[in-house]
Amino acid sequence: MHVSIAGTIDLAVDRAVESNCDTFQIFTRNPRGWKVSNLDHEEVEKFKSKLRQHNIGPVVSHMPYLPNLSSPKDDFYEKSVEALVGEVERCTLLKIQYIVIHLGSHLGLGRDAGLKRLVGALNPATAKIKGDLKILLENTAGQANSMGSKFEELREIIDKSRHPKRLGICLDSCHLYAAGYDLHTSKSVKATMERFEEIVGVEELKVIHLNDSKNGLGSGLDRHEHIGMGYIGEEGFRALLHHPTVRELPLILETPIDERRDDQENLKMTRELGK
Ligand code: ZN
Ligand code: MN
Ligand code: MN
Repeated sequence: MHVSIAGTIDLAVDRAVESNCDTFQIFTRNPRGWKVSNLDHEEVEKFKSKLRQHNIGPVVSHMPYLPNLSSPKDDFYEKSVEALVGEVERCTLLKIQYIVIHLGSHLGLGRDAGLKRLVGALNPATAKIKGDLKILLENTAGQANSMGSKFEELREIIDKSRHPKRLGICLDSCHLYAAGYDLHTSKSVKATMERFEEIVGVEELKVIHLNDSKNGLGSGLDRHEHIGMGYIGEEGFRALLHHPTVRELPLILETPIDERRDDQENLKMTRELGK
């Protein structure tokens, strides 16, 4: 699941272990601001030693929400690229394996303009990578002007970038469904995964965000629901969790917390459906 880093960053490992996770996702800093404070050396060491001690991972970092890597506005774009490059540096220090990024919005200037910006943002960030850290492109729900809701587009972004081997894909099940890729029966899960294999290639897929969808197929809306309680439903998740490719991957819950369920209950449900 996605765990909090409140206090110091190493506490995220404790929270993940306490929650009985075998992999987890964090924001390495405040996700709702631009200001970043440097990582404390001792915190970094503690984080890494706790990971080793509990043998938990891979660890996934999610980029903060504000950056728009496809923005046509110069100032905003430059700030966004800087944030991504900074995140590569933080994850390198923390020995985190994956950074999941949102692909941003071209704000109405069109897909081609967005693609240029996006590739231009990825290049300086991937140039900074040493070792096996990867930046994972997260598929989007298909909101207006957003980049990367179609498999073809994800493939194109990887192909156009200068260091394609340092990129990969994170598929979010809610976003897939909202973008029109059906997942609510075993037949549709199979078809969607075959389509992905055909267009993008399964070797690019590194992480799955496991969320049900509050809205219908092709709604274009990014609204997460508890596992099995949305349109994908229990049958869909059972099929997804038994899919041979998906089964091998780190799965991260980004489900809501409300009076109906918390993270623990969604984890329990997921493990139940995956049996
Ligand atoms: Zn995301
Ligand atoms: Mn997601
Ligand atoms: Mn989402």
